[in-house]
Amino acid sequence: MNPPPSATLGIPTLGILGGGQLAQMLALAAAPLGVRVVVLEPDPLAPAQVCAEHLLAPYTDPAGLARLAECDAVTLEFENVPVEALSWLAGRVPLRPAGELLHLSKHRIREKEALRRAGAATAPFVSIEAESDLKGALESVGGRGILKTSELGYDGKGQVRVSSAAELLPAWNALGRHACVLEGWVEFAREVSLGVARNAQGQLAYGGLIENIHVGGVLRRSLYLPGDTARASAEQQARRLARSVAESWELEGLLTLEFFELPSGELIVNEVAPRVHNSGHLTQDGGGLSQFEAQVRAALNWPLQDFVPKLPCAMVNLLGWAEGREPDWQAILKLEGARLHLYGKAHKPGRKLGHVNLVAWESAELLEKLAVLETLIPQ
Ligand code: AMP
Repeated sequence: MNPPPSATLGIPTLGILGGGQLAQMLALAAAPLGVRVVVLEPDPLAPAQVCAEHLLAPYTDPAGLARLAECDAVTLEFENVPVEALSWLAGRVPLRPAGELLHLSKHRIREKEALRRAGAATAPFVSIEAESDLKGALESVGGRGILKTSELGYDGKGQVRVSSAAELLPAWNALGRHACVLEGWVEFAREVSLGVARNAQGQLAYGGLIENIHVGGVLRRSLYLPGDTARASAEQQARRLARSVAESWELEGLLTLEFFELPSGELIVNEVAPRVHNSGHLTQDGGGLSQFEAQVRAALNWPLQDFVPKLPCAMVNLLGWAEGREPDWQAILKLEGARLHLYGKAHKPGRKLGHVNLVAWESAELLEKLAVLETLIPQ
């Protein structure tokens, strides 16, 4: 294990591949631990530059990678890091999570196969690589489904819903005839997520089970209610699954599992993010450790503790608005228990620009205030 932070032992440095808002919030969580953060990010307007050393260069830049290799460890904020960058770093600096895990999680079919090997259920799926694969595909996943590009899709991008066999070819054409996965449509009761961190010693720590509402494939709102008994039993199941995935994938770092909860209560995994996740942003203000501190600690191989909120809390995303639908900033700032987080990004409709966390002593009070907050952030 790395030495604990101490003035006499020097200042630990964490490298991050990517400099977006997740890197910004990781760096903000690292600062009070005395950890310096260096980000490699080609965007000159990278949100993380306000609180981290910014290496303004492509992810494969030799000098940038060499600087990252001087850090105590390197972690990441997005999964599509070029393979060349990962292979160059491997062996030169602890990369957490490792390239092998990223190889699984960035490809929807490899991910589902690896989840099943770890004992986690997924939606039925079939691989679509050629037009001939479309024949009989929809029937094989239950007659209704969702076609997703195997790589590079996020926030509902790169996916088309399909409800009849005749829609399948136009859907595949619309996705550029790239390699895809056709997933069976899941009639879920709700969507939930849970983070798990694991350090190089094998110590595990968990986040709480968070309930998520998506609109158009994009996360709109997350909720954590500590006293909810339905949540508590699903949380046990989610932890068991998270543990078996983390151990069988030899996780070093943090990953977030997104689940569909079936009406029977069974959890099936939708996808895995090998990093902190939008649904975990509420851990910044719910009391207890945040998901960001958990990833920093896991990446540095420090002792972990669970990153479960102590209080009822919620998060509402701030997406770039359509004309005339700007959030009511004054009212958000005045709402007791609300905390505004803005990433410093330029406005673009639909873009994730920030979020508001809300915390209250009691669940009923939280839900009342959440209803008010939702009116201040028009969709
Ligand atoms: P994804 O990018 O795979 O996380 O999908 C974004 C959102 O689309 C999910 O959070 C769900 O709300 C919905 N979705 C994705 N896959 C399915 C599925 N197989 N069945 C039902 N809804 C889905």
